[in-house]
This record gives sequence, structure tokens and C-alpha cells, in this order.
Amino acid sequence: MNLIFLGAPGAGKGTAATKLSELLDIPHISTGDIFRTNISNGTELGKLADQYISKGNLVPDDVTIGMVKARLSEPECQKGFILDGFPRTLGQAEALDRFLAEDGRKIDRAIDIVLSEATLVERLTNRRVCVACKLSYNLKTHKIADNTCPVCGGSLIMRDDDNPQVIAARMVAYHKDTEPLIDYYVRSRRLVRVNSEEKIADTFANILTALEIRGIKI
Ligand code: ADP
Ligand code: ZN
Repeated sequence: MNLIFLGAPGAGKGTAATKLSELLDIPHISTGDIFRTNISNGTELGKLADQYISKGNLVPDDVTIGMVKARLSEPECQKGFILDGFPRTLGQAEALDRFLAEDGRKIDRAIDIVLSEATLVERLTNRRVCVACKLSYNLKTHKIADNTCPVCGGSLIMRDDDNPQVIAARMVAYHKDTEPLIDYYVRSRRLVRVNSEEKIADTFANILTALEIRGIKI
């Protein structure tokens, strides 16, 4: 299955994509994580991306599309993949459909995670991310001791772009550039919508139902 996750910043795309990737045994590709790894390694791509990410703006399409295209060409992605954070613009969505079609592939489903703006902002402000395994936690719903990741023991940090000014800019970018994608996937009959106002486990169960994945214990 070739899947993408839509949804505003803080909707829980990363958490759901991580779980789904384990369950379906297909790679989870987060463009945000790829950029952040490049930033911390000080690569040229990282230096470029940081100029945009630190302000809450989108990294330009040509850079992002080239990066994802290279990743999806790897043999590991031929059995299926889950994209998290891509596409984020109409140009990216069209490029994705075009280059997958070149080797007879397509996106099967776009999963839109729906959440109120107030909950989004609250989740982003309370989010802490593991520097080692990249899992994220909500301080309000997880008992976190000593800022340590319960899964791998790595340090938990607040992302640089999870501060009020940058969050506001990311929301503007989402409404302007990414929200129109919902209609793009509705028109091509690939959209499924899942409510995420509830607990993580409920959201995940709703995703499996929407994808018609049955008979799997979670
Ligand atoms: P979130 O969904 O919480 O905003 P991500 O980790 O997906 O976080 O992305 C962090 C930042 O990386 C974005 O604000 C943006 O600057 C950049 N980015 C990630 N994916 C893309 C993309 N597909 N196109 C352009 N910029 C992107
Ligand atoms: Zn961890």
C-alpha cells in the first residue's frame, strides 16, 4: 500500500505513520525528520532547509520533490511506503503522481487527520521529541520522567519550531498551501478522513477502519 498523511502541524501524522509503518512493514518517510537530520549533521541541504524551517515556511518545492523522489526510488520502497509531511503543496502532489506513474505506481489513499485549531496549538506546545528515536510525546498525556524517552532512553527536547511565533507561521502555510490538497485527493477519490480529537489509540483504530484493514490486533 502507498499512503500519504495529510493534516495540520500537530495533528499526529508522525505518531500514526510510525505505528502504521510497523504494522504494515513498509517504510515511514517523514520529510520533516529528513530535514532535521540534515540540519543536525550540518549538510548543505540542512543549511538551506533551516533558513525556511526556522521561520515556519515551507522548503521550496524543487528541493523537497527531488529529495522525496530519490527516496521513493530505493528498492525498499517498492513494496509500499507511508509519506508523512509530503506532499504539502499542489505542485508536490502533482509531481508525486507524475513520477510514481512513470514506473506504474500510485498513491492508494491520502489520510487526512482532522483536529480543531485549539487542540493543535496545545499539542504542539506540549510536544517533546526524542533526539534518538524521533518519537514524540505529549507532556499532558504521557508521564515523562527526567525528560527521558520511555522507549529508548534518549533525551527529549522541544523542537525549535514549536514556539508560538513559528507555530503561527506554520498554520498560515498549512491553510494556504496544504489545505487545498484535501480537495485534490477528494476529486481523485483517494481521501479518507479521520478524527483525531480523541486518544491516540482511538485515532489509530479509526485509521485502520478507514483503510479497511481488518483482523489485525493493535
Ligand atoms: P509538522 O507537521 O509538525 O509541521 P514536520 O516535521 O512535518 O512538522 O515539518 C517541519 C518543517 O519542515 C515544516 O514546517 C517545513 O518547514 C518543512 N517541511 C517538511 N515537509 C515539507 C514539505 N513537504 N515541503 C516543504 N517543507 C516541508
Ligand atoms: Zn526514543
